[in-house]
Amino acid sequence: MGRVALQINSIIRFGFNRNSITSFLWDPWLFGKSVMTVFPSSNLDSLIPLHAMVSDYLRDDGWLLPAVVSDTIAISLQHFKFNQETNGTLFWQDSNKACFSSFIKYYHREEAKVDWYNLVWHKHFAVKYSFYTWLAINNGLKTAEELLKRTIRVPQSCSLCFVHSETTGHLLYECDYAFSVLQNLIPMVIKTAVEAKLANWKHTENLRISWAG
Ligand SMILES: [Zn+2]
Repeated sequence: MGRVALQINSIIRFGFNRNSITSFLWDPWLFGKSVMTVFPSSNLDSLIPLHAMVSDYLRDDGWLLPAVVSDTIAISLQHFKFNQETNGTLFWQDSNKACFSSFIKYYHREEAKVDWYNLVWHKHFAVKYSFYTWLAINNGLKTAEELLKRTIRVPQSCSLCFVHSETTGHLLYECDYAFSVLQNLIPMVIKTAVEAKLANWKHTENLRISWAG
């Protein structure tokens, strides 16, 4: 099972009805594990068709397993029964109407919520700008400063003004050349916007540094 599947394994549940398409051998329907994982030495993959479904062997009155399946395995499956009142095969927290945001929320449940997230992520923001802002806050932009830290040999000076060291803060808020480009592109709002963002940036940097410490 993949890394993501393992992480959500405890929150998903399988439904057993005539229409479910749960794989008998490979899906983790047996208390979070697959039959092949629980009984690795039984060679079930050589005894049962690889594409067999749970519904192929489950009847209204119990299991009808091939004779090649051992009693030990048959007994361990007795807990599982058909439930015709259940529609669907896979359930997320007992609901078959899971949405992607539920998965994201659960998947990142142990990560700290930072108070600058709405500065970066918003449904009306273009994802590529949000992503680059997030990279900048986390020192992930491939500036000369960061590349040199990784022993990648590049000129240390800013690629735009060739005067100062190329750091994230310099490129975004200190570089005279970058600022002049912005000023020409958006002359009416640039001063206010840059000042506001610089204040936010410094606030965020302070928060990030204090958390890191
Ligand atoms: Zn510069």
